[in-house]
Amino acid sequence: DVTSRRGTDYYAVFADIPEADREAWERAQAYIDEVGTRMLDAWDTGAYPLDIAMRAGELDLFNDGIVHPGLTRFSPLAAGLVNMEISRGDGSLGTVLAVQGGLALRTLALFGSDEQQARWLVPVARGEVAASFALTEPDHGSDSVSLETVARWDADAGDWVIDGAKKWIGNGASGGITFVWARIDAPEDEHHGAVRCFLVEQDTPGYTGTVIAGKASLRGIHQAHIALDGVRVPADAVLPGTKTFKDASTVLYSTRSGVAWSALGHATACYEAALAYAQQRVQFGKPLARFQMVQERLAQMLEELTAMQLYCRWMADLEERGELRPTQASLAKYHNTRAARRIASVARDLLGGNGILLEYGVMQHMADIEAIHTYEGTESIQALLIGRDITGMSAFA
Ligand code: FAD
Repeated sequence: DVTSRRGTDYYAVFADIPEADREAWERAQAYIDEVGTRMLDAWDTGAYPLDIAMRAGELDLFNDGIVHPGLTRFSPLAAGLVNMEISRGDGSLGTVLAVQGGLALRTLALFGSDEQQARWLVPVARGEVAASFALTEPDHGSDSVSLETVARWDADAGDWVIDGAKKWIGNGASGGITFVWARIDAPEDEHHGAVRCFLVEQDTPGYTGTVIAGKASLRGIHQAHIALDGVRVPADAVLPGTKTFKDASTVLYSTRSGVAWSALGHATACYEAALAYAQQRVQFGKPLARFQMVQERLAQMLEELTAMQLYCRWMADLEERGELRPTQASLAKYHNTRAARRIASVARDLLGGNGILLEYGVMQHMADIEAIHTYEGTESIQALLIGRDITGMSAFA
């Protein structure tokens, strides 16, 4: 039973979950039980088993709060619990959820035309088509507002022509579709100079996705460099709801809360591993858990874990009421990824030498937390967003 884990939910933060949300949570747990071992191998070898990743769609786990005919809507709490549970099992799959179900699906649902939604929304939600969200560029990460990818209007052909480069794009070389954010170059167009989003099929000539090699985090999935060389897409490839860069920010604001849940999943796994290990590992004739300093460290982990849970639960309730402010999601992401890093580090240490072995279930989380700490806005960028909100002064540039 997902709610009766030994001591991880000390304040019964998740004890009173509505039935539908609990059912989604249990489905996520069953998914992880089904694929966990294969994902551990994938992490070890650096392969990306796309079939496992897309299986989450078959199990209806990608919906993430989207309202659309043919899809069951997740409440923010259900979406969060699913995210937590998948990340607790495997961070690589947690990130697929964030990319496919969070960034890509949300972009389409918020800004896509009726035709785009009718064609792609259900296939993406069901995992029949891999989808990606391409905002970051080699030279523009935190300042993606300055992105240089250009979409030029070719009036003679009646096409858009996209040129540029993207970096770090989850599912960017998986043979599906990519939502490409680009700056409009069309002097006659009312949006000239603004950033808009285009739906690009990855088999379009000029689109080249290359898997980024040498990753020491989220090794069970791929991120890609994308080269866009004269990629021609039809006039209706633009997502009509996207008008400025702020629309990209809107997507990121809503998925940031997901990262806070993901961090909670990772930290839960690390705490569980440390607690179990401390109880069975005997040194100096006693289980580690009998030593005062070990108990203190377990208490410190639980203290932080509980704070993470409270952020998440409260955030989900605010979101359900339509009251969650973007900077509240920033603060939760800021707190939770920082706390997850500390918990993972202590857990790693408590496991001694075994802590660096994948099979003991901490090292992989420790490495994966590094990625979620950075993506969807780094620690410093979240601090600047919160700082601007509480002081009324922007310190970005
Ligand atoms: P930089 O922006 O170069 O930052 C480097 C350091 O400088 C950081 O510590 C940062 O906090 C600090 N810094 C920057 N500006 C300031 C400032 N004004 N004041 C103080 N400090 C500052 N992007 C996508 O579009 N789609 C994806 O699917 C995607 N997936 C990703 C998956 C992974 C595993 C990773 C690692 C990244 C992914 N990203 C994706 C990109 C991610 O969003 C960026 O890496 C992130 O925004 C940071 O940009 P950067 O890496 O260029 O770092």
